[in-house]
Amino acid sequence: MYTVNAKSSVIAVAEPGGSYQSQTTLSQWVEVLVDCPGCSDLFTYKIPEHLQIKPGDILSVPFGGTQVGGVAIRLLTQTPADLPPEKIREVEDVVSEGFFPSGYWTLLNRVASYYYTPLIQVIRVALPPGLLGKSQRRLRLTPLGKENIPGYISPTAQQIITLLEKTPTADYSYHYIQQKIKAAYRGIRELIRLGLAENYLEPPRLTQPKLQKAVILLDNSDHDLTPRQKEIVEVLRRQGGEMWQNELLQLCSTSTSTLKALVDKGYIIIEEKEILRRETGPAIAGDWAKSLTPAQNHALETITSLTGFSKVLLHGITGSGKTEVYLQAISPLLEQGKSALVLVPEIGLTPQLTDRFRARFGNKVHVYHSALSDGERYDTWRQMLTGEPQIIIGTRSAIFAPLPNLGLIILDEEHDSSFKQDAPIPTYHARTVAQWRAELEHCTLILGSATPSLESWVSRNQQYLSLPERIHSRPLPPVEIVDMRQELKEGNRSIFSRKLQNALQQLEAKQQQGILFIHRRGHSTFVSCRSCGYVLECPHCDVSLAYHHVEEGAPELLRCHYCNYGRLHPPHCPECGSPYLKFFGSGTQRVAQELTKQFPQLKIIRFDSDTTSTKGSHRHLLTKFANGEAHLLVGTQMLTKGLDLPQVTLVGVVAADGLLHLSDYRANERTFQTLTQVAGRAGRGEDPGRVIIQTYTPEHPIIEAVQKHDYQSFAEEELKQRQTLNYPPYGRLILLRLSSLDPIQVQNTAQIIATFLQDKAEFEILGPAPANILRVANRYRWQILLKFAADSLPNIPDWIEVRSLCPNSVSLTIDVDPINIM
Ligand code: ADP
Ligand code: ZN
Ligand code: ZN
Repeated sequence: MYTVNAKSSVIAVAEPGGSYQSQTTLSQWVEVLVDCPGCSDLFTYKIPEHLQIKPGDILSVPFGGTQVGGVAIRLLTQTPADLPPEKIREVEDVVSEGFFPSGYWTLLNRVASYYYTPLIQVIRVALPPGLLGKSQRRLRLTPLGKENIPGYISPTAQQIITLLEKTPTADYSYHYIQQKIKAAYRGIRELIRLGLAENYLEPPRLTQPKLQKAVILLDNSDHDLTPRQKEIVEVLRRQGGEMWQNELLQLCSTSTSTLKALVDKGYIIIEEKEILRRETGPAIAGDWAKSLTPAQNHALETITSLTGFSKVLLHGITGSGKTEVYLQAISPLLEQGKSALVLVPEIGLTPQLTDRFRARFGNKVHVYHSALSDGERYDTWRQMLTGEPQIIIGTRSAIFAPLPNLGLIILDEEHDSSFKQDAPIPTYHARTVAQWRAELEHCTLILGSATPSLESWVSRNQQYLSLPERIHSRPLPPVEIVDMRQELKEGNRSIFSRKLQNALQQLEAKQQQGILFIHRRGHSTFVSCRSCGYVLECPHCDVSLAYHHVEEGAPELLRCHYCNYGRLHPPHCPECGSPYLKFFGSGTQRVAQELTKQFPQLKIIRFDSDTTSTKGSHRHLLTKFANGEAHLLVGTQMLTKGLDLPQVTLVGVVAADGLLHLSDYRANERTFQTLTQVAGRAGRGEDPGRVIIQTYTPEHPIIEAVQKHDYQSFAEEELKQRQTLNYPPYGRLILLRLSSLDPIQVQNTAQIIATFLQDKAEFEILGPAPANILRVANRYRWQILLKFAADSLPNIPDWIEVRSLCPNSVSLTIDVDPINIM
């Protein structure tokens, strides 16, 4: 065992079947990525004569005193010069061969290098849980060992025999033996050498396919059968000649002995068949391709005519029929034997979307996301490798779905920030990875949105396709802006304006349905004046100051999270002197309480992370709402995404300001996107919709752009500002996140790193500054933002050196292209 490239975080990887293949005969060693916490290096192992190993194989190798899983990365024809060959240990076994489609390693490697993440961590994100590391090395006594023939063995070896004899099979995992007996490894080796015990590898439990009895019809001419038997044969025939035994038993209310009689007569056979554990939705009525509108048609024709790698921005307003275009773009691919990957922001929106895909493509649709059970995830993942044409719908990590024959990648709601992973590393953006993947697979990437991210908006080398109208020419709902300062002036201290109160009352009276959107953030947020709308901002950074309240009795502070400018919370508004200077924040729970108090007749359903945490709860709540069991759906961000509920006529936004003044350069973009999306939920059916947005800053250009449904002017205005300040999409950012249990140490380390970086300055350094929520789970968090001038990263810092400045008690994460800067 030996470490190579100890200093490099980037490891070159050969593709399976790549240039190393020809040398297989000469290769006696292999470099292995070992799956153990904290190991990111490659270790060299000897290949035993009886094993054939290729890059990409999953191996079991000895590591320290245990057996662990690992991935074969590279074959070697000679050992590293400074490594004595006798020190190299042997690979134990190959657990699984040829796991990855070609090009897959290139993709993972690119992610590792771009996001400065050890390859093994990328592999952990890409593989389903439990694939690595779950294979078990076990030890069992041989017949000789069981005989207890006297002879000298060491005390440790004797202890192991005694332990093994306690089980009927005389068989335990290495892990268990090592836990029970000190320095067991030597004793194990001794027993194996003496032929008293043998070791073997038990494949990962999850890889054991789940088997179930299936009944298969052999002969369906029905002489010499009892009426009961005839009935069973008939059922089986109508079901296509094959059924799971338990389903057949249930359907025919019969017993296994009746089936046995049919087996004996040679009519059927019963055999174990593999059943794949996959999430299955409820049965869904079939659905056919709709005849497209001219705009949809143009989009579809363009997409289907593309060959090789190409990128498409499908900019379609809410309700314009983007999903129908996706469906029809996928359909011919399946016929060509290709698969499609559809990424969606959050699981909250998948039930509806998945249903639409299932209605069109039936069981060719599979979902893949982290809310599945490990078994479901594993099986879904594994069946992708079969190469069957299929559609995978998933969240960001599904970008790593190992589909061998990929024809199309779609990112729906591509602007959504949940495509970006903040933690743990790699801090990848699924859009970025999707582009690389489409390049590698020579296929089309569709980015769909009603409110494209500015990155995608300015991106070149792409087809721009637009769906500017809603289906059936339904109008976008009118957006009414309510000035909450005026409400206060006129004596209304409720969180609901009179206009919204009226609209809510009408819902009840007209038996219509509405959505109430509440923006909710963590513990701190911006401070604004309820009399004049003034917002306290950083004098240096063009962002609003965040309210900090660390503990009871401590002074209330306002801070800038970019440069660490700070000030005390003033008692009065600096602009108008009003004492109503408040920080914002009102959760769904509070709003729901308020609603019940003011509108006791109104039936509401809360739809937020509290009420949707259990599996299936999204679907359950949305179904209840769709069935008309409530007037109002009250919730957070989850409501903005992809809901297509034709009966919703009212959309209310309690306080747009909570979004607008987040201390983040993306606040405007996010506000425009969120408000436009949430407004887009109204008026999708026959009845016209109506949107009411409450704000303390009605004159804000973003609010005006939302009111006019005007993406273009929003984008133009916002891009000007980004360009001036060199923020993305013009400049690029890297965020260093530091955290520690020790508040002083993390602050000092942040300072030391910032000073170190200052010397190299090819980039602008903002900070160090404490994170918006300074303490999370008892860890104090600081950050440093690096701003690069160009579109590329010319002279990136030496991260190894930067890391070496961190004491063990401080952890450092490098977030490339950060989205969440707070
Ligand atoms: P988007 O994804 O752009 O918000 P959807 O694809 O959800 O829009 O379409 C909105 C609604 O219009 C859906 O209920 C969908 O079934 C319907 N729809 C889409 N395309 C057509 C079409 N060509 N003809 C009739 N109805 C359509
Ligand atoms: Zn004021
Ligand atoms: Zn500042």
